[in-house]
Amino acid sequence: MFRKFFARDRMIMAGLIVLGVLTVIAGFASGRTVFQYALSTDARYAASQWIGKVEDRLFAQHSSPAGRISGQDIAIVAPKLFGDIQARARETRAYKLRIASPAPQGFGLLGGVDMLLSGWIASLTGYLDANDHVSKIRNFAVLEADGGLILRSSGFDPKALDSFLADTRFQAEFYKSLSTRSSRFIDAFAMPGQPASEFQKGLVVPLLQGDKVARVYILAVDQSSAAALSRVALLAASTMTSLLILLSFSVPALVAFRRTRERWETEDKLRFLAMHDPLTGLPNRVYWQKVLEQALARAKRRNGLLAVMCVDLDHFKEVNDTFGHKAGDALLMEVSERLKSCVRETDIVARLGGDEFAILAEDLDDPSGAIPLARRICQQLSSNFNIEGHDLAISCSVGITLAPAEGSEAADLLGKADLALYRAKHDGRNTFRFFEPEMDSHVRKRRIIASELRHALHNDGLHIHYQPQFDLLSGALTGYEALARWTHDDMGEVSPSKFISIAEENGLIGMLGEWMLKTTCRSACHWPGDTRLTVNISAAQFIAQDLVKIVGESLSESGLAPQRLLLEFNEDVLLRNNDEMHRTLKQLTAMGVHLAIDNFGAGNSSISNLIRLPVSKINIDQSFIHQMEGDQNIRTIVNMIVGLGKSLGVTISAGGVETEAQAQYLRQIGCNEVQGFLYGHPQPEIGEGNLTSQTASVELDTEPVLLPFENEAPPRENVVRLVG
Ligand code: C2E
Ligand code: MG
Repeated sequence: MFRKFFARDRMIMAGLIVLGVLTVIAGFASGRTVFQYALSTDARYAASQWIGKVEDRLFAQHSSPAGRISGQDIAIVAPKLFGDIQARARETRAYKLRIASPAPQGFGLLGGVDMLLSGWIASLTGYLDANDHVSKIRNFAVLEADGGLILRSSGFDPKALDSFLADTRFQAEFYKSLSTRSSRFIDAFAMPGQPASEFQKGLVVPLLQGDKVARVYILAVDQSSAAALSRVALLAASTMTSLLILLSFSVPALVAFRRTRERWETEDKLRFLAMHDPLTGLPNRVYWQKVLEQALARAKRRNGLLAVMCVDLDHFKEVNDTFGHKAGDALLMEVSERLKSCVRETDIVARLGGDEFAILAEDLDDPSGAIPLARRICQQLSSNFNIEGHDLAISCSVGITLAPAEGSEAADLLGKADLALYRAKHDGRNTFRFFEPEMDSHVRKRRIIASELRHALHNDGLHIHYQPQFDLLSGALTGYEALARWTHDDMGEVSPSKFISIAEENGLIGMLGEWMLKTTCRSACHWPGDTRLTVNISAAQFIAQDLVKIVGESLSESGLAPQRLLLEFNEDVLLRNNDEMHRTLKQLTAMGVHLAIDNFGAGNSSISNLIRLPVSKINIDQSFIHQMEGDQNIRTIVNMIVGLGKSLGVTISAGGVETEAQAQYLRQIGCNEVQGFLYGHPQPEIGEGNLTSQTASVELDTEPVLLPFENEAPPRENVVRLVG
């Protein structure tokens, strides 16, 4: 594209130069013609003035034949004839003579221009010569109309004059001047002993009386100084004219050229942008579609095999939310560079949008040929990125489909690679999966669930269960956690672990969250005393809705005291350590609402982020509670979380407690709260009687107890034993 652009550029430049050179040549050619014209004009001026003086002196006023005319001696060659002419001139006072004008010359168009300029040239030469002209008349002779010599200037060598008069060139011009009654030049008319030159000329000028030729003047004109003068003047004039002509069209040409070049550049940019992603410069979806179709046609012709890969960054959104969009963009650029380094030159890496990339690898030997590339991509993207001074650890998931085995339509192949990608994400991320036909049905099922969930949300199809929570020290009921429930006519009970993620993916979480908050707040305001309501909040709700507004409305509409509401965020919210999230959490705590981190320890917890958040409670992830029994390391982690809670001054709660042994251990290490099937299952809306009966009996241990799992004694203070 750029090569084409520069080729056009060069052509225009070359065209301009040729035009410029032609203009200058035309200017000089024109100048040369003008130059010659000026010289002959000047010579004629000189001649006519000279002749005027001679006539006046010899024939009109004075009778003395001898003497000098303008510094020239006169030699009378034919005294009788001369005398006759003089006598006739004296007799006739009305002696009217006319000097013949020059013969018309065919100058054409340039001649026309010259005529215009000649006025100026003539005035220039006239100005330069104090004696009216620049051309010098060196010698002259006067002939009768039949060619007989009457007189000559003394400088005219008689022999040279005779041979000149006998010269055929002269003869021809002489007769032409007689027949046309015009003056004529004879070029290179040098005087004897002088070199013949372009500027030594002979001029034949008939003197007319009426229609008749009275006499003929032969003048030897020296135009050397006139030529030198005119040459300078004409050179300047020609140069100026040429420059003016050159400027007059080169300036508009340059402007036009610049505009054209700008248009080409804009067009090229637009064409590039239409086909490429502006951030990374990679091919975009339009270009991708085109190259994929071409590759499929090639594979069909050559019986080849190609792989289409969808690459999606894991947790990219968290990076964007935590470090801002600028860092997100920088990361995407770095990712695109790394992806390019993974593939062959002939392969295509495209950005289809957001953090979604696609790779086209052609000419595979067999289906397994795509595996090393997929591995390379996962490895490359899982090593740390240094973005704006932060060390970012991300990973990617890759979905692969093969063509023509899995299809020959570009859109269909991409869809299949996308399904495989979805599976890779589902299987724990940072991995790759090949498309399998059953993936299609899995995704279709999730789509059906999403649409049924939407319907349920709009038609009061969801309900709520509440699970009690207890204080491990006093054994008293502290509150209830509200858990969404959905029973579908055909599918039966659908687990929230399933439908919450579908709601998040399909933009339904905002509606579901608002319904949960408003409904549970309304219920909880009828609960006695300070029984606390815990509501789960998805990280996606920060984006989907104005959480502060919804919480405020829920509290004001229900009349529930803000201190009785505890919002539980999954620990992935810790990754979104951005200003906006901090603002939201601060506003919520300013309202008096309590915050908790749910399922702590299961994912990518960031303790440094945790410290900065205004949380009043941390829930140990259930998986730790379930594995405590057989795993010393897990118990160490649980101990550490409890220790962390103590040092931060926040409540530590353990969920999923199912056995007495688990409860006993937690009690001994100083965990504050418990929740689990051991104490009560989630149940539908509960009445007042229910509430009062929800107390757990506790016994204070006075003696150190033997731990249920091993003979280790954890730090112990005010240990209580809770009996469900
Ligand atoms: P969670 O917040 O950790 O809720 C506790 C989950 O553990 C509940 O599962 C509860 O039924 C289960 N559970 C309680 N005690 C025990 C026990 O002793 N053993 C075992 N095995 N499980 C126990 P559920 O109701 O299926 O909810 C799963 C998750 O779905 C919740 O985990 C929560 O993260 C999410 N969820 C539920 N309702 C909502 C909601 O309204 N909004 C949001 N954003 N998430 C919700
Ligand atoms: Mg919870």
